[in-house]
Amino acid sequence: MSRCCPVCSVAGDGTHLLTTRGTAVHACSGCGLEFVHPLPEAAALEALYQADYYAAWGGDAWESVVRKQKKAYFRPHLERIQRIFPQKGCLLDVGAARGEWVELLLSEGWKATGLERSADAVQAAQPYVGPGTMLHATLEESLLPPASFHVITLFDLLEHVPHPGAALDQLHDLLTPGGLLYLVTPDADSFSRRWMGSQWWHFKREHLYYFTPELLTRLLEQKGFRILDGGHNWKTLSLAYLLRQLTAFEIRWLSGMTGVAARLLPRFIQSLRLTLPSGEFFLLAIKHPAAGSGSGCSAEPSHLSADREQPSIGPV
Ligand SMILES: [Zn+2]
Repeated sequence: MSRCCPVCSVAGDGTHLLTTRGTAVHACSGCGLEFVHPLPEAAALEALYQADYYAAWGGDAWESVVRKQKKAYFRPHLERIQRIFPQKGCLLDVGAARGEWVELLLSEGWKATGLERSADAVQAAQPYVGPGTMLHATLEESLLPPASFHVITLFDLLEHVPHPGAALDQLHDLLTPGGLLYLVTPDADSFSRRWMGSQWWHFKREHLYYFTPELLTRLLEQKGFRILDGGHNWKTLSLAYLLRQLTAFEIRWLSGMTGVAARLLPRFIQSLRLTLPSGEFFLLAIKHPAAGSGSGCSAEPSHLSADREQPSIGPV
């Protein structure tokens, strides 16, 4: 079935760009947005997220190393959000995985809720975040009331969503007026993408859309958001995590070597942390203050103040 581009509304299947790891990537003939074609059936997507989807993210003897590393990765994102919203109100993390970000937020005084479609990941998060904090549901399935959150975050999530335009409409409804949306997603215009071509590590079966900062900015503005900040994303990784990710991603000539290294290198070496460009970008956007009605939380967003100077858009 032909599809309609979420950014420019041009109908059609676009033009074939490349096929990698058994998946064809097309580009929209109107705006160039890249997407997998055909879009996988809902049942096939659901099957991808079962059982060991997050195995390469931890869940073994390296759980504590990976958990600490992930919280170190999230720290600069937290500081970026808190510069705009120091009150620490209600925050929803969509695609919360094993809850490291939610755990960090709770420890910093936020009222955080995680939404996660993998039951295993929700269960793995429980000892760290407590009961009722992680909800086992997709965004589409969630029945959260409108205007309930001051901040919504999506780390590596938007590229997984079959209908990103509809998802952004829903997120807009869930935010309080003037609420913040923070996204991190692969950058189809990144150096790593151009360098690695079809072997780019972000080409994965479950990644359905590949945005550029320009195209996502355009989509967000259409959906009633204004961009406050944006830029390249850097990842803090332990060597243990990096080796397991590269092995799991089945990069042609690399994964055999990283698999051997993950088995043989001593623990103290694998615990070392590296900070690297991730081939992703972040955008921080504000829901137009005039949109929506009412607030589900008591904290007052400081960025609604009329005399506050808005930050300029960073280089993306
Ligand atoms: Zn398009």
